Amino acid sequence: MKALKAVISINSAADLLSRREGLTGSVGFVPTMGALHAGHMSLIRQAREENDHVIVSIFVNPTQFLPGEDFTRYPRKKEADELLCKSAGCDLLFLPQTQEIYGADEPMVKAPAVAGYTLEGQVRPGHFDGVLTVVLKLLNLARPTKAYFGKKDAQQLILIRQMVERFFLPVTIVSGETIRQKDGLALSSRNEYLSDTERTQALKISQSLFEASRLIKQGQNQTAAIETAVQRVLDPLPIDYVAITDRQLRPIDQVAKGESLILVAARVGSVRLIDNMWV
Ligand code: AMP
Repeated sequence: MKALKAVISINSAADLLSRREGLTGSVGFVPTMGALHAGHMSLIRQAREENDHVIVSIFVNPTQFLPGEDFTRYPRKKEADELLCKSAGCDLLFLPQTQEIYGADEPMVKAPAVAGYTLEGQVRPGHFDGVLTVVLKLLNLARPTKAYFGKKDAQQLILIRQMVERFFLPVTIVSGETIRQKDGLALSSRNEYLSDTERTQALKISQSLFEASRLIKQGQNQTAAIETAVQRVLDPLPIDYVAITDRQLRPIDQVAKGESLILVAARVGSVRLIDNMWV
C-alpha cells in the first residue's frame, strides 16, 4: 500500500498564499467548518480524484452565525480532522484563527436581497452575507481550479455559484451529492448535538423528502399537495420552512423534473436541521 503523504497544516494566510504560489497544476479546494464526517470526506476525495493538489480549510466562520446561535459550542475537533484529511488525500490543511481572516471594520459581501434573504436567509438574516464573505476570502487565498460544495446546503451552493459567476471569479464550482446515514439522516456536524431520542425524531426530515419523492414518482407534480404531504410526515416537529422552488430558489406551483428543489428546515429539540432534495 502506498504510504499516505503527510498533511501540511497551515495557520497563516501569508503561508497559504506562498505555498499556493509554489503549486503547479490543478488545485481542488474544500472549505469546511470542521468536525469532519463522510459528507466532507466525499468532497475531499472527489477533489483528490480531479486535481493535482488538494487544499482543505477548517474555519468556524463567526460572521455566518447570528447572535445567540451555536458559534461557541460548534464542534471543534482539530486532531481527528487532521487525520481524516490525511486519509482522504488532502495536501494542505488551512486552519486559520479568526484574526487571520477578519479585521475590524472591513468590507463584507452582501447576499442578494431576495435569494439571500429567503428560506435559510429569512430565518437567519445576514447568514449568507457571512458565508459569501468568507468563501470569497478563502477562494482568494487558495486560488483553486475547482472548489467543492455539498448539495446538502442547497441555498449556499446556489448563492456561491451566483457570486462566482457575477464577480467573475476564475474558479469552477463543483457540487457533491448529499451523503446520508443508512437510515436516511443527512450527515451534519450538528447531528452531534442530538440525543438518541432526538436522532430518531430527526429521521422525519429525510423521510418527509422520501415521501415527496414517492409522490412525484407516482405522478404528483402540484407543489401544494407535495408540501402538505411533507408537512404531515414532519409533524409534530416545529417547521421553519418547507419550500418547493426552482433551481434559483424561486417558488413554483408545479414540480418540473431536473429543475426543482424541495427544501426543509425543522427543529428537533434545540437543534435546527436542514435537508433538501434536487428533483
Ligand atoms: P460545513 O463544514 O458544514 O460548512 O460543510 C462544508 C461542506 O461540506 C459544505 O460544502 C457542505 O455543503 C458540505 N456538506 C455538509 N454536509 C454534507 C453531506 N451530508 N453530504 C455532502 N456534503 C456535505
